[in-house]
Amino acid sequence: MLPDDHEKFLKLFDITFQMKDLPQLPELISRYGITTPIHLKSGIDPHNANIEEFWNVKPVYNSGFEAFIPIQNGCDKFCSFCAVPYTRGREVSRPSSDILAEVSLLVAQGYKSITLLGQNVNSYGIDKKGNEISFPELLKQIGELGIRMKKEFWVYFTSPHPRDMTNEVIEVMSEYKVLAKQFHLPMQSGDDKVLIKMNRKHNMEKYRGIVRSIRRIIPEATLFTDIIVGFTGETEEQFENTRLTMEEFRFNMAYIAMYSPRPGATSHRWDDDIPQEIKKQRLHILTDELRKYNRTYNKNLLGKTVRVLVRGTDRKEGFLTSLTEGKLIVRFASEDKNLIGQFADINVTSSSDFSMAGELVDVGEIAGF
Ligand code: SF4
Repeated sequence: MLPDDHEKFLKLFDITFQMKDLPQLPELISRYGITTPIHLKSGIDPHNANIEEFWNVKPVYNSGFEAFIPIQNGCDKFCSFCAVPYTRGREVSRPSSDILAEVSLLVAQGYKSITLLGQNVNSYGIDKKGNEISFPELLKQIGELGIRMKKEFWVYFTSPHPRDMTNEVIEVMSEYKVLAKQFHLPMQSGDDKVLIKMNRKHNMEKYRGIVRSIRRIIPEATLFTDIIVGFTGETEEQFENTRLTMEEFRFNMAYIAMYSPRPGATSHRWDDDIPQEIKKQRLHILTDELRKYNRTYNKNLLGKTVRVLVRGTDRKEGFLTSLTEGKLIVRFASEDKNLIGQFADINVTSSSDFSMAGELVDVGEIAGF
């Protein structure tokens, strides 16, 4: 929340606070008679806690097999369309010992999908100036932990920033089974001039180089991205450059958003000059492209057996839904809710644009993964 929005939001909410005051949340809501199972590590006075104590808020997990672990908070990148550096402040890395302890605890409890969270996960540790391990080292230690624990689980991270993406990260991911072979690499635009205006601090040469390394080192990895269409001043030619990347990179998934100015972001002061209709058209064009390449990718998996994590009941009655290690959706006929949260092997029998369907072959963890 931006400081200027404080008054405005108080008309809508009972409590507003800045991220740095998060440790005081249990006390703030207790004034409204609400008690919470969240508590700080003993001995910490919420009034004296700083943002780093945010990591000490004991998490409550909604799922018994999937968890999200914050490893970093804030952002130093200042993309012109984004207000995060102003609302969340600068990058602060969580101590790696805490992260490793939490991963280890979750795996021991049987968690199978763990996602490391941060605005720029791959600049992890940089704020600690040599007093903390780097992101590839953190991944390596998680990989080693996986070997020691001999349990099957998948570890994801989101989002990395292309500027800080190194071959070292990709190489470490290729070395350890528990590091899931899936990349979510936000591109935002396929045009260098737009990227400069977005203050993205990466260009297409850099992005291309990363994708090339991913394809060379981990050919089976899936690739997801974020794209904004209709950013201030985006010309037809610049949009076309983004469209061309859909064929070049063949993303497995792209989260495509129509640009809308965010209060507090630099671009909020600029003219939002691309008509809504054009933004919609561009979104549809990219979605169609995405669908085309997705369909081909999924078709190639027909007849193959894929390993999945069963996640819940599907919208289609009598079916369960699951995700592959690369986060591709696979549904299969079963009403056995005991399968939810378990690994399974599915034989792919049909594919559509953004999902596949198959038949259950086997269930259970691979011993000594
Ligand atoms: S888009 Fe991401 S990298 Fe850019 S300023 Fe926002 S949080 Fe930071």
